[in-house]
Amino acid sequence: MTVHDTRLAGGRVFLHGSGLEDVDLLITDGLVAGIVSRDSDAEAREVVQLGGKLVLPGAIDPHVHLGKDIRVPRDPDDARLETASAAAGGITSMLVYLMSGEPYETVVPGAQAVMEQDSYVDFGFHICVGTDDHVHDIPAYMREFGISSFKFFMNFKGEEGAYLGLPGNDDGYMYDVLGMAADNGAMINPHPENIELVWKLKNRPIDESRGPLSAWNQSRPSFVEAEAVQRVAYMAQITGASVYAVHTSSQLALEAMERQRRSYENLFVETCTQYLTLTTEADCGTYGKVNPPIRERADLEALWVALAEGKVDTVGSDHNARHRSFKEKDVWTASAGFPGTGGVLPLTLSEGLRRGVPLDRLVDATSTRAAKLFGMYPQKGTIRVGSDADIAVVDLDGSYVINAATQHSGADYTPWEGTEVPLQVVHTLVRGEFALRDGQLAERTTGRYLRREHSGAAALAAADSEGEA
Ligand SMILES: [Zn+2]
Repeated sequence: MTVHDTRLAGGRVFLHGSGLEDVDLLITDGLVAGIVSRDSDAEAREVVQLGGKLVLPGAIDPHVHLGKDIRVPRDPDDARLETASAAAGGITSMLVYLMSGEPYETVVPGAQAVMEQDSYVDFGFHICVGTDDHVHDIPAYMREFGISSFKFFMNFKGEEGAYLGLPGNDDGYMYDVLGMAADNGAMINPHPENIELVWKLKNRPIDESRGPLSAWNQSRPSFVEAEAVQRVAYMAQITGASVYAVHTSSQLALEAMERQRRSYENLFVETCTQYLTLTTEADCGTYGKVNPPIRERADLEALWVALAEGKVDTVGSDHNARHRSFKEKDVWTASAGFPGTGGVLPLTLSEGLRRGVPLDRLVDATSTRAAKLFGMYPQKGTIRVGSDADIAVVDLDGSYVINAATQHSGADYTPWEGTEVPLQVVHTLVRGEFALRDGQLAERTTGRYLRREHSGAAALAAADSEGEA
């Protein structure tokens, strides 16, 4: 009889189609080798008793920035500290944005090497395109590196992208990017903000009496985001591209996407934990400055409705390990962005359950849908025989208070400081190995690079045919 590596016993396991089941998981060689009844006599070298805790597919953070300049991970701690944050929050895979004006064959191998040394979680890359050469090379990036999703900053007109080393672009460039993605089964992840409106609105008086987050929101109101979403979604239909609106923050942007979806289906929506849990009333000050801005209560409520209805595809973090010294300034000079990957699963799950959102929607939004959209399914995003044993074990009777230390990030602060979370991730397994065990991070990191052949509609078609097999 086969002796398995690990038996996760006594948990309540989330299985697609049937929901929570009182079954045991058998893990061998990093894969789910069996899903068996409690009284099965299957043997394993180690049996881990879970005592009724929730066993979920490991969460996937589809939106992460690494590196001190937020462009590229370069140092060991860029990978180690930030992926520790992820693993401590039940993340087992992340997709990291690489940003460079250089050809990416000079960037990807170094970033991959840094991550393979020190990442707790499996990882893939999105590439930010900014030059004509980048667009031309999309097929080569897909073939050589298995990178099938490409970001494009609609707001980088003129000199706006210079701080990331990216030249200015325009809607003609966007048209080329979308066409190239459509021809090759890739997906475009636009940063949708109309920068010309932002420039215009800069001269408008702003009421700063309601705090820094309100002031920042007034300076980049949600129609700035919604107009850009609408434009890129329309052009997606014209070109046949798959478009994934990153960090959707507002009711107006959701509505713009819904309107376009009525006539064209390959449009996808990501939101981030901050837009589901923070409003301009939050007391985190400039730590919470981000683009798009934290919005009003009505936007947060609209995002939860959309998530429950399946109109929000994924929840990511837009994690950015910008150090606190860049944040402790007035709202106009503080840097945008903050760390958040550690909160994606705990905050979305706890707040979603409190609101009565079905567990299968929460699992979909924090794991399965990202796996399907970004070409990782069914290796990732589900618990089934043959899939990677990527698991988050959650104690619904546990609780913890978020602070900089619980987040592990080198940024050394969190906008959720002091937030009490009424559940706790206790174990995180990446391909069958404990990255987090009883709340303690492992000594050794085991994250591997993820190649992803297609993203968007092409990846969904592949995932669907797998589902039927
Ligand atoms: Zn981002």
